[in-house]
Amino acid sequence: MTQRLLVFLLIIISFATIGAAKPTDNVMAAKVVWTGDKTRPQVALTFDDGPKPEYSIPILNILDQFGVKATFFVIGREARWHPDLIYRIVDSGHDIANHTYSHYRLDSLSRKQIDEEFAATNDIIKSVTGKTPIYARPPGGRFNRVVLEEAYKYGLTIIGWSVNAGDYTTTSKYFRDTKKAEEIVSRIVGSCHDGDIILMHNGGGPTAQALPQIIMSLRKKGFELVTISELLKKNPPNIFAAKKN
Ligand SMILES: [Zn+2]
Repeated sequence: MTQRLLVFLLIIISFATIGAAKPTDNVMAAKVVWTGDKTRPQVALTFDDGPKPEYSIPILNILDQFGVKATFFVIGREARWHPDLIYRIVDSGHDIANHTYSHYRLDSLSRKQIDEEFAATNDIIKSVTGKTPIYARPPGGRFNRVVLEEAYKYGLTIIGWSVNAGDYTTTSKYFRDTKKAEEIVSRIVGSCHDGDIILMHNGGGPTAQALPQIIMSLRKKGFELVTISELLKKNPPNIFAAKKN
């Protein structure tokens, strides 16, 4: 009996220690999510690199038209010029999240620079919406230990993706390219599973062209399209194992 009590106490102590760990002691305290619940027919559309009016407005219009809520990972440098779009994203019921200020690869920056990248974007979003973001996506999905520690400091859960739309291009001729749009649709619809987080963009590429068909096809397959916060509601991110460190 005493032995069982001892084991019980040890378990409690170890949980308390984990809970109290500072990010520098235990980097895994930072949360990294690559997918939602794989047993629920929910998927999340996520749009990176905005807000850019020529791409973001058509996408926001389509989402409104279909009654879909999504997640926008915005770049601070762009957000600064388009507070109206930041406001619209939140006012429409979408999640807004931090995609850094300058869109540099964070694993090539110093701690101070990484800190500024997260802080400046959080400040811009908060100044327009009154809310501080709780999610971030490092450009290119690239991060290291320092990035995780800085994200933890700002209470930001890192959100990766499990399906890549491959929709981004800097070649403007693809903006209205129907063939490219069809490729994006079949890439997403063909590989989508329960709990997937779908990486898309609103900063280049024929995403808006593909979006109505993506929404209709995913719904036809029985998926509910939700925000990241909705996707993770029943499964807090700390239950998911970090894929990288
Ligand atoms: Zn990006």
